[in-house]
Amino acid sequence: MIEFRHVNKVYPNGVRGLDDVSLKIEQGEFVAIIGLSGAGKSTLIRSINRMHEISSGDLLVNGVEVKTLKGKSLRKFRRGIGMIFQSFNLVTRTTVIKNVLTANVPDMSFIRVLFGLFTKQQKVEALEALDKVGILGKAYNRVDQLSGGQQQRVALARTLAQNPEIILADEPVAALDPVTARQVMSDFKKINEDMNISVLINIHHVELALEYATRVIGIRSGKIVYDGPASLVNQEV
Ligand code: ADP
Ligand code: ADP
Repeated sequence: MIEFRHVNKVYPNGVRGLDDVSLKIEQGEFVAIIGLSGAGKSTLIRSINRMHEISSGDLLVNGVEVKTLKGKSLRKFRRGIGMIFQSFNLVTRTTVIKNVLTANVPDMSFIRVLFGLFTKQQKVEALEALDKVGILGKAYNRVDQLSGGQQQRVALARTLAQNPEIILADEPVAALDPVTARQVMSDFKKINEDMNISVLINIHHVELALEYATRVIGIRSGKIVYDGPASLVNQEV
């Protein structure tokens, strides 16, 4: 479970990214966070794995106060949380499978790839992750030969290889055309349903949020202005 208790984030320039945010997200929920550009969606999502430090309040993940984690425990905690970005964040000049294999070993990745230091088991798991998102056939293609939607699926497979309990996705479909965006959203949904992974997606495209998420959180000027079922969202958010 993810729990925010009266969380505030004030940036050094005085901008309030989060304003007294309190909410609970149970394991296995599919939550869309919607709001205009600058509303605080990124700040909200990036506080969870401490890419952004909160200024005050409490933020707990599975009962652990996130701000108390450091060093090894912070790294271990972050491995349990997959992060997906609008820009995919892949190494484009190498193969799909190498990108997936290096998910768990960012520091060692180049050395390991160079010397082929991956076990058969790791390769099987990487291929399974690619199969899960429907791009097994591209495993040995270079990433820069793939379309945007395919690249986002590689990013998703890479995240799955970490065995995360939570996936945080910051505008994952913003760079994709509408058809591809739907395909990627349905991959998120499938992963959420089949694997009970909590999925939190920042998305400015309200219709897609309503179509795929079960819960919608609306944010404006750092404040939660809506939190409830996707079916009850009105136009005010
Ligand atoms: P969203 O993801 O909804 O577009 P953000 O969380 O990125 O919104 O930003 C919320 C507010 O905080 C915006 O006003 C933004 O300009 C500001 N902000 C975000 N990051 C920083 C930063 N590093 N320093 C100062 N202000 C920031
Ligand atoms: P993304 O789309 O990847 O979230 P952004 O354009 O929102 O990227 O932000 C890029 C970087 O700039 C982030 O580190 C964010 O914290 C920072 N940032 C965003 N808004 C501001 C701002 N108003 N002042 C200073 N830094 C900001």
